[in-house]
Amino acid sequence: MARAGATLVIRGGSVVGPEGTRRLDVAVGGPSVLELAPSIEPPPGAMVLDASGCLIGPGLVDLHTHLRQPGREEAETVDSGARAAALGGYTALVAMPNTEPAIDSAGVARDVLALGRDAVCEVAVAGAITVARAGKAMAPLGELAALGVRIFTDDGAGVQDGALMRRALDYAKGLGVTLAQHCEDECLAGGGAMHEGCWSSRLGLPGIPAAAEESMVARDIQLVRLTGARVHFLHLSTAGSVELVRAAKAEGLAVTAEAAPHHMLLTHDLVAGYDPVFKVNPPLRTADDVAAVVAGLCDGTIDAVATDHAPHAPEAKDVPFDQAPPGMLGLQTALPVAWQVLSDVLGPAHLFALMSTQPAAIAGLGPTDARVGGHSAQGGPLEAGATANLCIFDPGGRTVVDPHHLASRSRNTPYAGRTFEGAVRHTVLRGEPVVIDGESQR
Ligand SMILES: [Zn+2]
Repeated sequence: MARAGATLVIRGGSVVGPEGTRRLDVAVGGPSVLELAPSIEPPPGAMVLDASGCLIGPGLVDLHTHLRQPGREEAETVDSGARAAALGGYTALVAMPNTEPAIDSAGVARDVLALGRDAVCEVAVAGAITVARAGKAMAPLGELAALGVRIFTDDGAGVQDGALMRRALDYAKGLGVTLAQHCEDECLAGGGAMHEGCWSSRLGLPGIPAAAEESMVARDIQLVRLTGARVHFLHLSTAGSVELVRAAKAEGLAVTAEAAPHHMLLTHDLVAGYDPVFKVNPPLRTADDVAAVVAGLCDGTIDAVATDHAPHAPEAKDVPFDQAPPGMLGLQTALPVAWQVLSDVLGPAHLFALMSTQPAAIAGLGPTDARVGGHSAQGGPLEAGATANLCIFDPGGRTVVDPHHLASRSRNTPYAGRTFEGAVRHTVLRGEPVVIDGESQR
């Protein structure tokens, strides 16, 4: 019997759930999942998506996307970034506030949310912690929280002033929002261009010591202990940071953390050719740091994989290494990279938890969170009645990275010419297939 009311039937795939992976077809009606069953007959007129051999998981959620709008539209826009996200399997992203102007007021937040409304990926925004991200005066967190902003950060910079961070944490606690820290002591970082170690000495480039990150992680853990507020640590990159967060969690402190795909795979020796595409902040570190980040993802110390997708137009990035802005593209390669690094050591359920369920919860976009910002429920679980936000990934496919065929307006991927096992095949946003067979539909 055909499933009445179904507008879309996804056939032949395996649904990833907390209890494991099961061979199930998925019937979708309008924006919602209607039914999951071993075999579903599509009714006349329903669209059918082939998912043979694929994993069907909840749509991915990125905690850390730089969309560059307003102010740097030559590098990325809400529209182009959302398309890159959809092609990467994402159904929601959090836009970082280091735009020009910064998202430090209700007006700018409203503008970005409005641009995101018709995009092919839901766009939530992070607000700045301080006015213009200058680290001097607190931004109007309450006004932004009233718009549905649930996460605040000065990303691109860490809040250097510990007393200001403490006050912001007290305020955030009262509002029930999360502060996210780009952990970098600017004095210790000293304008460095890469990780401080054997390669920075050999290449004659100024280094950023691991201690620049770890000292702020340690300070903020102290501030969480002092205030009882929550902190989310952005893009952890060193073994010492992972160990600090592991200990803080063992103590029961309200901390969460993310890691970027490039910190799970790439190491500082790649800088040897002085190619600015490998310049990123925090910088690529040592093989021991990479191993520690992966171990942290496996044992629950790190809660989320977040892209830190940071587009830069070619004319800005193609300059001498020490002058280039830091940042790499990430949205279209995150899942294939994570699959390559993690699929041997953890199962699909854990991988989708790291890339969908847990980031959705940290961003306040999960199924039990209030729908203040107008977003739909993200992060699964996939069951009848849930919003049909889906990422359909083919482990047997291949992702060939060609910088000229990415949806981003920029080209700064560190994976140019590389091939990864596995490919995002379809992405479904609120019941609409926005990506079919790796092609954007609008
Ligand atoms: Zn950052």
